[in-house]
Amino acid sequence: MAKHPNGTPVPAERGPSPVAVTDSRNRQLRDFRISVTDRCNFRCVYCMPKQIFGRDFEFMERADLLTFEEITRLARIAVAHGVEKIRLTGGEPLLRKGLEELVRMLAALRTPDGREVDIALTTNGSALAVKAQSLKDAGLKRVTVSLDSLDDETFKAVNDVDFPVAKVLAGIEAAHEVGLGPIKIDMVVKRGQNDQDIVPMAAHFKGSPYILRFIEFMDVGSTNGWKMEEVVPSAEVISAINAELPLVEVAANYHGETSARWRYRDGGGEIGVISSVTQSFCHSCTRVRVSTEGKLFTCLFATDGHDLRALLRGGCSDDELSTVMAGIWRERTDRYSELRTATTHEIRAGKKKIEMSYIGG
Ligand code: SAM
Ligand code: SF4
Ligand code: SF4
Repeated sequence: MAKHPNGTPVPAERGPSPVAVTDSRNRQLRDFRISVTDRCNFRCVYCMPKQIFGRDFEFMERADLLTFEEITRLARIAVAHGVEKIRLTGGEPLLRKGLEELVRMLAALRTPDGREVDIALTTNGSALAVKAQSLKDAGLKRVTVSLDSLDDETFKAVNDVDFPVAKVLAGIEAAHEVGLGPIKIDMVVKRGQNDQDIVPMAAHFKGSPYILRFIEFMDVGSTNGWKMEEVVPSAEVISAINAELPLVEVAANYHGETSARWRYRDGGGEIGVISSVTQSFCHSCTRVRVSTEGKLFTCLFATDGHDLRALLRGGCSDDELSTVMAGIWRERTDRYSELRTATTHEIRAGKKKIEMSYIGG
C-alpha cells in the first residue's frame, strides 16, 4: 500500500474506467488546475484592480464553492483520463480554509499505472511562511510563488494592499526549507510598471535554488485594461538579462512545457520565459481548468464553462461524469493565443472573457 509523507499507509484511489483522452487537435489531457477560491488578499493591478474588485464586489457564497469531496471526485476522474499534475490556484488558494485537507485527499490519488500525482500550488506567498510545513505534511509537492518586484515601492504599487516584499521572501524560504521544491518564482512583466526590475530580479535569484520565470502580461479577463504596448516580449527580457548576465538556451524538460528555458553561462542556474502573447503554445496545451464553483474551462480565454457542479449535485454517477468530461476534452478546439488578433476583436464586440482571479493561472 502507498504511504503518505507522514508514514501513514493510504489506500490508492483509482478512478473509473481509465482512458487517456485526446482533443480535436491531438492534444492529450495532462494537467488539471483547480481554483479553490475567488477571493484574494492582494489587488494586483493586472488581475483584480480595486476599481472592480472593491468593497462592494460580491464574491461567491460558501455553498456555491465546490467542496473538497467534489473537487477530489473530479480530480480522480481527470486522473483516470490521463492527468498527471494537479495545480491548486485561485484567487489566493491559501485563503481557502483547511486547504491542507484537500491536499491530503488529492495526494491519495494514483494514476492508472499506480504512480503518485504531482500536486502543486500557485500562491502570492503571503501566508506561505505559516503554512509551508502543514502543506508539505499533507502531501503537497511543489509551490510556485508570484513575485513581481524586489523593490517595496514597486511591489506595493502592483499588489495595491501595501504588502511588503520581505514577507513573500520569507514565505519562499520557508517553502524551500520544508522541501516544497523546485520552487518557481513567477514575475508578470508589465511595461511602465516593473520592467525596470527584470535584471535586478535575475541578479537576485541567480545562483539560488529558485527558478525565476518572466511572464508576458496577458489579455485575460475584461477588467485589467490590457494593451499590447504594455506587454514586454520575452525576447526583450532575454536580451536585457543576457547583456549583463550572459545566457544560453536550454532544451525543454518535456513536451508541452510552457516556459522556454535559459541558463547562465557561468553556471548560475536557470531562468524561464513564458511568452503567452508573442509565441503561443496552444499546439501543446494539455490543461483543463475548473473554476471555484465547478465550471470546466478548456482554455484560459474561454467565455463559457461547462457546469460540472450541476452534474455533481444532480446525482450523476462517476461513469456519467467521466463520459461528460472526456467528451468535452475530445471536442476541444481552443487555440486562442494562436488566433489572438481575430478573437480579441470578437471579444471586444461583446463577449466577456473570464477573469484570471476566477480561474487561476
Ligand atoms: N494568487 C495566486 C498568485 O498570485 O500566485 C494564484 C492565482 S494568480 C491568478 C496566478 C498567476 O496568474 C499569478 O502568477 C499572476 O501573476 C498571474 N496573472 C494574473 N493576471 C495576469 C495577467 N493579466 N497576465 C499574466 N499573468 C497574470
Ligand atoms: Fe491575487 Fe494572485 Fe490575482 Fe494578485 S495575481 S490579485 S495575488 S489572485
Ligand atoms: Fe491553452 Fe487557450 Fe492558452 Fe492556447 S490560449 S495555450 S489553448 S489556455
